[in-house]
Amino acid sequence: MTSQHSAALASASSAEQEVARLCSELIGIDTSNAGDDSGPGERVAAEYVAEKLAEVGLEPVMVEPAPRRTSVVARLEGADPGRDALLIHCHLDVVPAVPADWTVHPFSGEVRDGFVWGRGAVDMKNMCAMTLAVVRQRLRERRKPPRDVVVAFVADEEHTGALGAGHLVDRRPELLDGCAEAIGEGGGFSVPAARADGAPIRLYPVGTAQRGTAWLKLTARGTAGHGSRRHRDNAVTQLATALARIGAHEWPIQLTQPVRDFLRESASALGVELDLASLADDVDAALRALGPVAALAEPVLRHSANPTILDAGYKINVIPGAATGYVDGRVLPGYQREFFAEIDRLSGAGVTREFVSDQPPVNAPYSGPVVAAIRAALAAEDPAARPVPFCSAGGNDGKAFARLGMAAYGFAPLRLAPGLNYSAMFHGVDERIDIDALRFGVRVLDRFLTAS
Ligand SMILES: [Zn+2]
Repeated sequence: MTSQHSAALASASSAEQEVARLCSELIGIDTSNAGDDSGPGERVAAEYVAEKLAEVGLEPVMVEPAPRRTSVVARLEGADPGRDALLIHCHLDVVPAVPADWTVHPFSGEVRDGFVWGRGAVDMKNMCAMTLAVVRQRLRERRKPPRDVVVAFVADEEHTGALGAGHLVDRRPELLDGCAEAIGEGGGFSVPAARADGAPIRLYPVGTAQRGTAWLKLTARGTAGHGSRRHRDNAVTQLATALARIGAHEWPIQLTQPVRDFLRESASALGVELDLASLADDVDAALRALGPVAALAEPVLRHSANPTILDAGYKINVIPGAATGYVDGRVLPGYQREFFAEIDRLSGAGVTREFVSDQPPVNAPYSGPVVAAIRAALAAEDPAARPVPFCSAGGNDGKAFARLGMAAYGFAPLRLAPGLNYSAMFHGVDERIDIDALRFGVRVLDRFLTAS
């Protein structure tokens, strides 16, 4: 073993030792984001992160566009300041949790049976902790990354991101100066699978694309009147009809390039035949052949649009003059025009549409040095790793950072314990992460930083 190698091992073990504690302590700070200002905000967590970064000599910048809605950004100097910078982003806020539903208190950060438990363990205080651990270790050891690395721990991802990533991009872009690529949530986790010949492998979806977020407010306007009369111009009826049509609509399969790449690479990794040309003919059979990958592919074969909120009327015998409904729309990359034309057709002439949030789809190439560094880091730590490009059904802050021209990748590396239903953990009850997965993530991130 070379001295360099043993130093690297020692460094990994130190970051690996503190990552679970960092994750647990971050979970212990309630940063619930209900989508309004009723929550505690991210300030306490941001102060915690800033302190951990300052301890190792960084000068974190706190950004607080609204009271207690705080993000932290810091820049690590790279060996070559002439090169483009890399952004690592993760969000400090979490969705709310109801303690009565949980085995442990969701904001306890309890460590039990080799897992860190609590809201955010998976989404995504795990990545915040891994990033902190790796950065702290590298700075303690004066191991510079090859180029500048900006780390951003942001507020408000679980709502629109306007008070977090969106604010940084719109109002504080100088903090992200020179960043050409970004990594964050939406990929990097392991999916256990077996090849057709029986060999066990682990697929690692690496996020390259995301469906767009189109949160829509639909309004029908009619003539207000008495509930006992015959009434031809009822806003409630009109809105309900529009929402029913939208909710029942069967969106056709549209095979976008990132989804084609994902299906092709996954089939190749699994050693199964997949005929993309006839996929739409019998999508269920095609997805069955992909085993555990099917659940990742199915939501990104089509647009989706689900009515979620209704708001109309104030008294049972009064017909209101207007009715409002909200639709959570998710839009495939490259098909925005078709999506909105269809929404307008389904809504009908009398219904108007506004955006509550409009974040267009993003699509980054599955090639280049960053992707090569991701693949190499995974392969070095997991010989059974098969990285595949991946399109997210939902979305994350990568979309906001892409507005500054960054190629946004979903890469929060985790080799997960077998048997854990990882996707059910997102916003789920008894959210938890195994400590070995965190340690794996630390080692992969450290290798990735060295190679990127
Ligand atoms: Zn998240």
